[in-house]
Amino acid sequence: MKSIIKERSEQIVTVGKNVTAPQCERRSAAGAVSQRACVFCGSRVVLYPITDALHLVHGPIGCAAYTWDIRGALSGGPQLHRRSFCTDLRERDVVFGGENTLRETLVRLIRKHRPSAAFVYSTCVAGVIGDDVVAICKEVSLQEGIDIIPVGSPGFAGTKKDGYRTACDALLALIGTGTATQKNPLSINILGDFNVAGETWIIREYFDRMGIRVVSVLTGDARVTDIRNAHTASFNIVQCSGSMTPLAEAMKERWGIPYTRVSFFGFEDTAASLYAVADFFGDANVSQRATEVVRNGVNSVREALTAIRNETTGKTAGIYVGGAFKAVSLVKALRHLGIRTVMAGTQTGSKRDYEILLSVCDHGTVIIDDANPSELSRVILDSGIDLFIGGVKERPLAYKLGVAFVDHNHERKEALAGFDGMLAFAREVHRSLNSPVWKFVSRHAAKSMGVHL
Ligand code: SF4
Repeated sequence: MKSIIKERSEQIVTVGKNVTAPQCERRSAAGAVSQRACVFCGSRVVLYPITDALHLVHGPIGCAAYTWDIRGALSGGPQLHRRSFCTDLRERDVVFGGENTLRETLVRLIRKHRPSAAFVYSTCVAGVIGDDVVAICKEVSLQEGIDIIPVGSPGFAGTKKDGYRTACDALLALIGTGTATQKNPLSINILGDFNVAGETWIIREYFDRMGIRVVSVLTGDARVTDIRNAHTASFNIVQCSGSMTPLAEAMKERWGIPYTRVSFFGFEDTAASLYAVADFFGDANVSQRATEVVRNGVNSVREALTAIRNETTGKTAGIYVGGAFKAVSLVKALRHLGIRTVMAGTQTGSKRDYEILLSVCDHGTVIIDDANPSELSRVILDSGIDLFIGGVKERPLAYKLGVAFVDHNHERKEALAGFDGMLAFAREVHRSLNSPVWKFVSRHAAKSMGVHL
């Protein structure tokens, strides 16, 4: 591929041509304008679906733009997580320190909203001026009698994945502090589902029907009390592996809870995930009920999917998402629609993730780690794909280049998990591919309008 920054050349491979997974888990190359978000964003997106907690951003107001509206994690109860609280650090705080502002803001917010716990996020400015956020959290915590957890997440301190790790540490500060002591033999925690568009509710319902108790969801529609008791579950399933694997590992080490990776995107992976949980418990009734859930789920959407598949077969797609496990599921889901994936990339994939991705992709598929707009534009134009699947930062890229687009990131408003989610996904794919707008914004037009790569 032309126009790759030299030091990134090992982060792009082609299935069949290269035998190894792309280099990954590196800091983004200078000048590459990575599609990744910052450390703070990584922490915030994992923690803020804890709906009854106070989330306070210690930094300038611009950092607080990452609000609930950007990531639509729904709550079945409290709505405190939707408030975008910020200390709004200004020049005066930068010169004299922001600790007093933080202390006063925290006290005022806790007294007003009476949250179940509070998280305080350090941003770049707080990190640069050296505010002792840990000490202030401790002091106010003792004074107000509430858990206040500092989240050390200045944007410059690493990649979005470092933010995930910091968020896992913050969750570990709560897990195990609850009053429950008895382990429920048929129980799980769901790690890495954020109830985007209500997807946690779909997944929970499957487990309810299988007779499995969900102790906590970290962190979809989450409550502080449930998180405190998460250590009493017998098994952890990890949906967003990029963010939650460190937490799963830590819970295995501390409380002996085994875990497996799952995905509820697409038929195949949803069924495999439900069967994996049933197999873990080895209970004949649970297995029987899992089979029923899968059979009913597939039968309820089979006919509608076949009709869509007849019109999508033969198309090609590119995928660029946060985590590689989702990319793997999407490759399989697209195959069900007769669509071939010719490009797949992720922001935070690990070596193991990429090895799995390589094994499911067809020969000739380009695999990219930590892409930038220039590389994505080049692949879209060179490969002539019909459809691009990504998130909020990839959407304008696809539209400008005249390519159909489906949002599969955390901004989406449509639930795409489970069997019904597969049908919703297929409908979105079909609608976007057949939109009349592409007659007016063709790829050739984009080239002639001077899209520079
Ligand atoms: S990079 Fe720094 S300043 Fe920008 S949003 Fe992240 S924490 Fe805030």
